[in-house]
Amino acid sequence: MEINIHYEIDTISDIYEDYVYMSKYETKSEEKGTCKYCGTTDLNKFKSKAHLAPEFTGNKDSFCYNECDDCNNTFSAYEYSLKSFGAFKNSHLPIKGKKKFPKYVDGYHGYSLQFKDDNSLMISTKKEGDFLKVSDDKVKIKSLTMPFVPLNVYKCLVKIAFSLMEDKDFNKFKSGISWLMGKKEKTTPLIPHIMLYNPNQKPISKPIALLLKRKIDYNAPEFSFVFIWGFYIFQVFPPFNVLDKNLDFANLKLPIMNEFITKNEEGKFGVSHYDMNHLERIQSLEKITFGLKKDRNIKS
Ligand SMILES: [Zn+2]
Repeated sequence: MEINIHYEIDTISDIYEDYVYMSKYETKSEEKGTCKYCGTTDLNKFKSKAHLAPEFTGNKDSFCYNECDDCNNTFSAYEYSLKSFGAFKNSHLPIKGKKKFPKYVDGYHGYSLQFKDDNSLMISTKKEGDFLKVSDDKVKIKSLTMPFVPLNVYKCLVKIAFSLMEDKDFNKFKSGISWLMGKKEKTTPLIPHIMLYNPNQKPISKPIALLLKRKIDYNAPEFSFVFIWGFYIFQVFPPFNVLDKNLDFANLKLPIMNEFITKNEEGKFGVSHYDMNHLERIQSLEKITFGLKKDRNIKS
């Protein structure tokens, strides 16, 4: 099947409406105690509280009561990939994990950094390295991220989108469950595993997750999902919706947020999108620059 994607800007609010924000989400009482993914109703498997978005993203108060411990455990591998992908930059922000600010360790360059309660950033190293440069009033730090699996970063985002869906909508995505649950599962989906991504947003310390649903007849997927964590903003189009089978894939429209528009050195506009359908572990070289001012004006 031929698939042609047209990224559209400035149309997203005409085509989609807010389905639910994570901050407003509550598991429906009739869905509690039945696992949305494996179907178990064994109450012994609902002993821990499943975070809707990972706790390390700063989510302290949104939980799913329809996700069993086993499935939650499976998803933690995907969360780990998201963490490895973004932990370096976001360690510069006051985002608490379970108890304290997480320590970020770069084993390759041999240093660690950690945000402290007095609003300072502690950088520790035993050897001199080229990972840190101080010039004038700016500090530049680079890091090689921990290895992550692109498909698992994507699965982590799709799982958060699924968590926000009521059963009546999630039922349309049932064919995606085996893909989601299988750690090595790679498929050719209806909607390509495209992730829109911008690592340079104005940072926030509490994550925002928003599920969008199409409100008009349009040749775009029925759902879209936006997630903002620290410096990062992501948008994906959850695959496997049976209703999306009716779309014209030769002319598929993906309405995206303006945050993903890029401009290169020649002034040409583009869209920062990534095909995440890869299972090999990769690392990426990340850089951050911030000013040495009292108001902690962080720029990257
Ligand atoms: Zn389960």
